[in-house]
Amino acid sequence: MKLFTSKKNRGHIIIIGCGRLGANLANTLSDDEKSIVIIDKNKDSFRKLSSSFGGIILTGDATEISVLIEAEIEKATAVISVTNNDNTNIMVAQLAKELFQIGQVVARLYDPERECVYREFNIDTICPAVLSTKEIDKLLDASEEMEGVV
Ligand code: AMP
Repeated sequence: MKLFTSKKNRGHIIIIGCGRLGANLANTLSDDEKSIVIIDKNKDSFRKLSSSFGGIILTGDATEISVLIEAEIEKATAVISVTNNDNTNIMVAQLAKELFQIGQVVARLYDPERECVYREFNIDTICPAVLSTKEIDKLLDASEEMEGVV
């Protein structure tokens, strides 16, 4: 999956969930001086943002359409839903894709078995369990290769 092709013209990006992943992503993308809005239902979560974060913070439940509209979703080029709840992520991702016709929609997914649901809606997914499995497998392969060399 290719999230962004270049550092230029990333447009207006909405990130949902200012947890460990969302805050990290927001800090990184905001370094590129793009228009970023980050939404979280818990205002304390925004403490994870760096002091140099240059985007907009919005407190609210992202499953509410009024909150998405306040984030100016209609002009968004990408919506990234990384809350800690698969149902919330799928709901927001579907709203972004179907109702607001956003081209690039990415959602975090804890349960890999639900990936087919997202695929049906043309939503890109990030699944930590699958990514971790692949990385561990690579580490095991690399260590087996090293043993073969010695
Ligand atoms: P983490 O598990 O550290 O990646 O954190 C996930 C973040 O998602 C937390 O800060 C939650 O407050 C946030 N979150 C969960 N549900 C919603 C929601 N419906 N709208 C906005 N933020 C949410």
